[in-house]
Amino acid sequence: AGADIATPNRTKDIIRKHGFTFKKSLGQNFLIDKNILDKIVAAAELSPAKGALEIGPGIGALTERLAEEAGRVAAVEIDTRLIPILRDVMAERDNVNIVHGDVLKTDLHRLWKEQFASCEQVSVVANLPYYVTTPIIMKLLEEGLPIESIVVMVQKEVAERMAAKPGGKDYGTLSIAVQYYCEPQLVCIVPSGSFIPAPNVDSAVIKLKRRGEPAVAVRNEAAFFKVVHAAFAQRRKTLQNNLSQLAGKERKQELGALLESCGIKPERRGETLTLQEYATLTEALLEAGI
Ligand code: SAM
Repeated sequence: AGADIATPNRTKDIIRKHGFTFKKSLGQNFLIDKNILDKIVAAAELSPAKGALEIGPGIGALTERLAEEAGRVAAVEIDTRLIPILRDVMAERDNVNIVHGDVLKTDLHRLWKEQFASCEQVSVVANLPYYVTTPIIMKLLEEGLPIESIVVMVQKEVAERMAAKPGGKDYGTLSIAVQYYCEPQLVCIVPSGSFIPAPNVDSAVIKLKRRGEPAVAVRNEAAFFKVVHAAFAQRRKTLQNNLSQLAGKERKQELGALLESCGIKPERRGETLTLQEYATLTEALLEAGI
């Protein structure tokens, strides 16, 4: 069938033929660079035994490549206007299912049962709409779906935050959530000229390979993430100050001693703690009834 949507001419032809106009509010920047698609598809390590979930197929530039590599493709697109275009462009491909909907409101467990029952492994592969990157990633991580890996195009600075190590300004709640569940690996940096229309920011492809077990052992995940969020509530504040929101002001002294007992100086800031230190701290706070 050939794979050629991701060229400037073909993309313009499809858009003209269907009278399509871009909606900035939906993060519509379509890929027109075949080299970048090659890198995305290679990073996803697909095979006929595997499935691919695409979020936001647009006019199908990535979808057609996934259809060639994977056994099954399900692509969830929110924009009603794109559904007939996608059905037209994908008409010859019998392993692609176009699903109309908002991925944030889609029952993904059900979608998995309906679309991927025959697949050994499933990866999420997408050029994400940037206005909802974080909620989409969090949904994929937190819902306990059997995902092998997530290979996504995101804003470059978001990729940097996902992969950040402790100690810098990029390290925060997103880094910790991603690294708790996955091993991040930067695939490539993508210039804005690789899209129509060109976005205002540089982009990057990042691969999040799901770990067999979370990076650190915690008895209570909700408590762990609550502690992490509290620690970053105000970046300039010390850990002791930020965490006293959880403990109550009257327990601030006690909190200082508790931090010391975990080997963590109370005047450190949230951005310097490793995942292991957060796990240790969470246990100690739970023990202390905080
Ligand atoms: N995959 C195409 C490509 O690479 O050329 C299009 C990528 S474009 C950056 C993002 C796509 O996500 C758009 O088609 C947009 O309509 C769609 N989209 C935006 N919000 C969405 C949502 N909440 N659920 C599903 N799709 C969404």
